[in-house]
Amino acid sequence: MTDKVVVITGGSRGIGRATALAAAGRGYRVVVGYASNKAAADEVVAAIEARNGKAIAVKCDVAEESDILKLFEAADKFGTLGALVNNGGIVGRSGVRVDEMSAERIQRVMAVNVTGSILCAREAVKRMSTRHGGKGGVIVNLSSIAAKLGSPNTYVDYAASKGAIDSFTLGLGLEVANEGIRVAGIRPGLIDTEIHASGGEPDRAHRLAPMVPMKRIGQAEEIANAIIWLMSDEASYVTSATLDVTGGR
Ligand code: NAP
Repeated sequence: MTDKVVVITGGSRGIGRATALAAAGRGYRVVVGYASNKAAADEVVAAIEARNGKAIAVKCDVAEESDILKLFEAADKFGTLGALVNNGGIVGRSGVRVDEMSAERIQRVMAVNVTGSILCAREAVKRMSTRHGGKGGVIVNLSSIAAKLGSPNTYVDYAASKGAIDSFTLGLGLEVANEGIRVAGIRPGLIDTEIHASGGEPDRAHRLAPMVPMKRIGQAEEIANAIIWLMSDEASYVTSATLDVTGGR
């Protein structure tokens, strides 16, 4: 058990929500970031408080640097930062080829998935690094198995953004390895969340389930469990590494 603060971007729904609940169960004080769905974030906070946990909801579109600064200021008031989960992420419309993609779409995917994650990590390192007087901590970055598959004819821009996250996990982990901070990534496979609907294909995960070696899609809690393990001291020698959690896909 810890009483440290974990900041979870996109903690309002899906994998972030499951991670928020699991982290609260380990004693973390949870900062639930959300982009626009305040009701969902408030529900997560209420669920944590109902189990005698501590949580706050903070609006943060990670494409906005000013929102990120406010997110971490709120975390500072809540306690000592011990972990960041860079979870908030988006896909563009599914089924759009690169030769049809708008610059705006590509820039938005990169701004949220890549720049947002790097800026959040910057703020976390400033607080957790022993180089800056901090007490150490953990950063977990949400990648995707799309980084390895490339997602042709689906969303290559999204796959490329997660490839960038894999390089970021590697590089940042090495940069701060001797400063008390571990950095790790997760590549989820097909997980049962609303992200597929946001890409215009609500049934995508279920449709592709037969292609998964385990013949099923994953649940958000199964990703949260891996994130929680990476955050824990049981993963004390894990850094600069990214774990596939895909049912074999
Ligand atoms: P989801 O169900 O669509 O939930 C997305 C979460 O991210 C929500 O809490 C949302 O906040 C937040 N969010 C959206 N845009 C944001 C922004 N601009 N700034 C900050 N937060 C933002 O997604 P999910 O499936 O849980 O995915 C979570 C992470 O796992 C993502 O990084 C995704 O790429 C990755 N992943 C998911 C799958 C999968 O199959 N589900 C597979 C591989 C990787 P609001 O509630 O306010 O909208």
